Amino acid sequence: MTAQTVILEVNRVATDMKEALKSRIDILAEKGIVPCLATILVGGDPSSATYVKMKGNACKRLGIKSIRIELPEHISTEELIAEIQKLNVDPSVHGILLQHPVPQHIDERAAFEAIRIEKDVDGVTTLGFAQNAFGFASFPSCTPAAILAIMDYYQIEMEGKHAVVIGRSPILGKPVSMMLLHRNATVTMCHSKTVNLEEMVRLADIVVAAVGKPNFIQGDWIKPGAAVLDAGYNAGNIGDVDYEACKDRASAITPVPAGVGPVTIATLLKHTVDAAEKLA
Ligand code: NAP
Repeated sequence: MTAQTVILEVNRVATDMKEALKSRIDILAEKGIVPCLATILVGGDPSSATYVKMKGNACKRLGIKSIRIELPEHISTEELIAEIQKLNVDPSVHGILLQHPVPQHIDERAAFEAIRIEKDVDGVTTLGFAQNAFGFASFPSCTPAAILAIMDYYQIEMEGKHAVVIGRSPILGKPVSMMLLHRNATVTMCHSKTVNLEEMVRLADIVVAAVGKPNFIQGDWIKPGAAVLDAGYNAGNIGDVDYEACKDRASAITPVPAGVGPVTIATLLKHTVDAAEKLA
């Protein structure tokens, strides 16, 4: 490892974010308001169940109410939307999170779009995405917002830097690219049809990996001194970046596990408190 390499200890970022929420939750409590996040889990996918449980537990630890709605695998798109609409009109619910992915027969996009914008704390609606692209989203997608929060915490400069984002999904690659653009980075978005991906990554001052393939980003692709943010989380707790190979060249790097994930959860909690304050 080079002397300059900073391992981005994201648990510190998440802890600070949660600490900052405590006084805001206390002020809401004085007004008789308890921030409330409703999570919806469709089917029995064990990873999704674990993620929902982690989010619920994080809520409880901080004094945020968490409602967990578990729906059977065979539910229809219409039935799922009806459940979302109940939460949309429930004044005690401030945020709604539909755990991705839902079973294949469900129109996930239609279900996401059914979430009222004021309660879209996970930033999954197209309206939320559009607002994010214009730079004034109430609730940007949580993982992209977490990536920027980590960079801000460690004062990683974005303005004028060349950021290369690998992945263009609606929840990660696209919104994080827009957010970096708003911070005056020059952004290159790469995807599965990109030609000469390695050469693109070699030009990056900031690398954001959002591919969903274990150890995909190789050490010799990293320009010495680049900052490497690994959003990937694959089976076996493996990131999208070959951490051991990349950390020798990077100026800063997120490890996996204990990478972007804890800050994503802290961001979700922050958005839920933001939503409760707005309603108050
Ligand atoms: P996704 O929807 O599967 O998107 C993957 C993206 O990677 C797609 O845009 C795809 O390109 C691109 N890609 C696939 N193979 C490629 C290749 N060989 N070369 C270049 N690009 C390639 O995944 P996602 O939901 O964005 O998630 C990405 C990763 O982040 C996963 O590991 C996931 O577990 C993780 N994640 C972490 C968090 C967190 O809180 N830490 C949250 C969400 C996701 P095409 O568009 O051309 O298909």
